[in-house]
Amino acid sequence: MEWPFMTAASGPVEVTDEVLRAQSRPVLYHYDPAFVDFFDHTSSLLKQVYRTQYDVVILQGEAVLGLEAAAASLLDPGDKVLNLVSGVFGKWFELYVERHGGQVIELAVPYNEAIDPADVERTLDRHPDVKVLSVVHSETPSGTINPVAEIGRIARERGVLTVVDTVSGLGGEVLSPEEWNIDVAVAGPQKCLGGPPGLSLMAVSPAAWEAMQRRKPPLRSSFLSLLDWKDTWLEQRRFPYTPSVSLIYALESALRHVLEVGVEPYAARHAAIARACREGVKALGLRLWPARESIAGNAVTAVHVPDGITDEQLRGHMRSRYGVMISGGYGELAGKLFRLGHMGKAAHPAYLAAQLAVLERSLADLGFPVKLGAGVGAALEALGDWPPGGCSEGRSRRP
Ligand SMILES: *Cc1c(COP(=O)(O)O)cnc(C)c1O
Repeated sequence: MEWPFMTAASGPVEVTDEVLRAQSRPVLYHYDPAFVDFFDHTSSLLKQVYRTQYDVVILQGEAVLGLEAAAASLLDPGDKVLNLVSGVFGKWFELYVERHGGQVIELAVPYNEAIDPADVERTLDRHPDVKVLSVVHSETPSGTINPVAEIGRIARERGVLTVVDTVSGLGGEVLSPEEWNIDVAVAGPQKCLGGPPGLSLMAVSPAAWEAMQRRKPPLRSSFLSLLDWKDTWLEQRRFPYTPSVSLIYALESALRHVLEVGVEPYAARHAAIARACREGVKALGLRLWPARESIAGNAVTAVHVPDGITDEQLRGHMRSRYGVMISGGYGELAGKLFRLGHMGKAAHPAYLAAQLAVLERSLADLGFPVKLGAGVGAALEALGDWPPGGCSEGRSRRP
């Protein structure tokens, strides 16, 4: 199979040449003082991107490791977890809770909707013994976001710990664990941050550390243990096991890029491209998947598969004829929607215009009535000034 010309998928995303070059640097021994310094420096960049004073932990595995580690490290058998479900990843967290002995109380909405904070309030009042609340910030398979700041405030008022999957949220929106009352946040480099997959980027509040230490017994000597990282890295600058040296190089480069642009302008780029993308999609006569635009996220734009065409036909055609890879529906959303991705490097007018152009051409090839250029035109019209906030492209993309 030929490799694609362009990837505008739901993650992993395309990474910049700079990130690739960083990843190809010599592999250092992890206790070389230069690597220990570099890991420390990378952690401090992550703190700045998270806008947090909490401890950050970089687990050496794809973001699902961080999510399972949160459940495994926090939960004692029988602990009640209010799991908010507005999509595939929200539902998935239930498996981790149950595997690690927790008891799930579910608050679910249809997968094109967002959680209503008033429902969270009511549910927590009905179940005062809930220990942990879990919620997905950016539900990538649905292209939706949940109001995590409001939910966090409600949980904090009731002394409930929050675990937030912001794997595709960090970078695409301005957030802070302190401001949003998040106790354990989990992000991934391979979405809005524009890095490669393979790491879990976590922020852990003092209250979450205490809860982990109160667990009977505290989870230690495990790949899933967050306390292992506190005992070794955070307290003694030792590693519990060998870190993924090359991925740390790539992560440092991706985080540095976000900070060079600025956390707020970087998120504003994602918001501007997402808004323009929705205008383009609507101008083509297609229907957005989220129930309302106010809950559409900045990571991907999810679109109903139009009548008369299958998802496989459309995405297959875009990939095989034009070499453009976008994403389909995931889990129970398979076949119902397709997703245009605009994270990281793809949060850019050139990627937006190119994928919409190929989408239009593919729809026309498959007999769906479109006026070529309608989607691209509407998107570019909606774009306004680029980049938002004004700083130039060249400053941060060195050749
Ligand atoms: C990508 C993603 C994950 C991690 O899932 P992978 O299958 O390992 O990529 C978790 N949660 C959300 C919301 C995601 O977007």
